Amino acid sequence: MELEEIARKYALKNAVEYGGEANSGAVIGQVMAEAEDVDHAEAGKVAGRICGEVNSMSLEEQKEELENYEFEEEDDEHDPIPDLEGAEEGETVVRFAPNPNGPPHIGHARGMVINGELKQKYDGKLILRYDDTDPVTKRPLKNEEYNAYEMLEEDYGWLGYDIDEVRYSSRNFDRYIEYAEKLIEKGKAYVCSCSQEEGQKYRKEGEACPHRDKSVEENMDDWEEMKNGGIEEGEAVLKVKTDMQHKNPAIRDFVAWRIIEDPDHPITGDEYRVWPMLDFAGAMEDQFMGTTHIVRGKELRASTKRQKYIYDYFGWEYPEVKYWGNVQISGFNAPVSGSTLGNMIEEGELDGWDDPRAPTLQALRKRGFQPEAIQNFFIEMGFSENDVEASVDTLETANRDVLEEEADRYFYVKEPVELEIEGVPEDIEPEMPLHPDYPERGNRTPELGREDGTVTVCIEEEDMQEGFLRLKGLCNIEIENGEAEYVEGDHKVALEKDADIVHWVPESSEEATVVMPDAEENEGLLEPSSIEEDEVVQFERFGFVRKEGEERFFYAHN
Ligand SMILES: [Zn+2]
Repeated sequence: MELEEIARKYALKNAVEYGGEANSGAVIGQVMAEAEDVDHAEAGKVAGRICGEVNSMSLEEQKEELENYEFEEEDDEHDPIPDLEGAEEGETVVRFAPNPNGPPHIGHARGMVINGELKQKYDGKLILRYDDTDPVTKRPLKNEEYNAYEMLEEDYGWLGYDIDEVRYSSRNFDRYIEYAEKLIEKGKAYVCSCSQEEGQKYRKEGEACPHRDKSVEENMDDWEEMKNGGIEEGEAVLKVKTDMQHKNPAIRDFVAWRIIEDPDHPITGDEYRVWPMLDFAGAMEDQFMGTTHIVRGKELRASTKRQKYIYDYFGWEYPEVKYWGNVQISGFNAPVSGSTLGNMIEEGELDGWDDPRAPTLQALRKRGFQPEAIQNFFIEMGFSENDVEASVDTLETANRDVLEEEADRYFYVKEPVELEIEGVPEDIEPEMPLHPDYPERGNRTPELGREDGTVTVCIEEEDMQEGFLRLKGLCNIEIENGEAEYVEGDHKVALEKDADIVHWVPESSEEATVVMPDAEENEGLLEPSSIEEDEVVQFERFGFVRKEGEERFFYAHN
C-alpha cells in the first residue's frame, strides 16, 4: 500500500473514532508502524495533508469511505488465554490448589498465572486452596523458620493477582467425614481389609474382594473403628465403589480414606485418625467451594474419572476440566522441585528459600525478576496438552522486555584497574543519561578526580588495551605503552573509527557487591549513585541487578 493510502486509511479511522476530526499526531504513529522505510518528517508531512483532506469531509462521508479499508485485529492482551468451555462472565470459579510442602517455585507460578488470568478474563472468583491432606509423604511445611502456606499466598499476591478466598483442605475434615458416611449409607463405599497386594490383585483381575458386599451396618461399625481406634493403621481403608470391570484398572474401586495413627499435622495436629486421599478431599472441596472450572495436568485424567463417581452418587455437577501438558524449565542452578529444594535447604546445600541459585519465586524476586515478566512468560506459553520444554533464557528475555524501559543505567566495573588520563581540558565533564530513551529522567554527572589536568578513572581490566578507546559519556583517549592521553572529539569519532566504547567509574567510586545466580559474590566499583533499596537497574555491559542492602545487589541476567 502506498504511503498516502496508508495515511488515508488511518486518518479516516481516527476521524470516525473521534467524531469527524482526525488527529495527525496519532495518525503519524500508525503510518510509521505500517509503512516501510518512511522517516518521521515524511510521514508527518503526508499525514498532515491527508488529515486536512479527511477533516473537510462530513462524518457520513468518512464512514462510507472507511468501509473500503480492512484492519488487522487489534492485539488483545489476554488473547493467548483460550476460552473455557461454558465459562460465563461473573460466574466462573477457578482455583489454584498446591500442596504446601515446599517453597513456591517457578513451576507453581504457572498455575498461579493461568488461574489468575482466567479469573480476570471472566471477572470470576479465584480461590487459593491448600491441598494439605498428606502428612506422611507430602508433609506440609510449616515450622518456626518456614511457612509454605503463608509464602504461597504472599507470592501469589506478588505475581499480581487478587485471591478471593483462601481455604485449607485439612480444616474441612468434619464435612468430608459426613459425606464419607453418606456414601457408606448409600452402599457406595466400604471398609476393605485386604492387604495392599490383595487389593491390587482384585483390581487387576477386575473382581470384587470379599469386603465389597458387606452390609451398611458392618461398614459403619468398621468405619467407626477406623476413626476412633480398634482397627490399626494399614489394616483397613475406606474404598469408593466404581466398576470393578472398568476398562482402566486405575478407575476400579479406589481408596478414599486411610488411617494415620500419629499424623502430627501442622494445622490439625493429632485431631484426626482417618485421612482422605487427594481424590476424595479434592472432590469435596471443589463441590463445597463451587469450582466451575479446573485446570490440571493431563496425568490426572484418572482422578477426574474417579471423582466423577462421587459426584454422580450425590447428583452433583462436575466442573469443566481443561488439561495441560507438563512444563520443564531448564537452566537454573537447582532443580525445579519443591521437595528437592526443601531437602537441599534442610541439608544446608541452599541458603534458604531465596538462595539465588534456587528457582523459587522468592529467589527470582530477590534477583529482580518482575511479576509482569513471569505473567507474560506463562501467558505466551499457553496451556495446551502438549508438553513444553522451556529454558530460563526465555524467562530472562521476558524479564528483559519489562526492564529495558524501567531500569535506569549505571556504570559498574566488575574488575577495576586504575587509569590516569593526561591532558583532559577543564571543561570536559561526564554526562550520561539515566536512560538513553528517556532523556527526561535526567543525567548522571559524577564528579571527576582531577589533578593538574590529569583525571583518574577505573575501567575493566579487559578493556585496558593499547590504542584508541572511548570512555562512554566522558571523552576519547589513546593508550600508548600503558599511558592514556585525552583525544579531542565526540562519540561520533569513536563510531567512525569503530573503536570500543567502554564504561568506567570515577576514582571516588564505592565498592559494591553483586551476588551472582551461582551465589558467587563479585566485588566491583559502582559510580556514585542514589539507587534505592529494592530498585532494579542495569549495570551497563554487565546486567540487570536489584539492590538489597547497603551497596549490595543481586544479579538477574545480562
Ligand atoms: Zn477387601
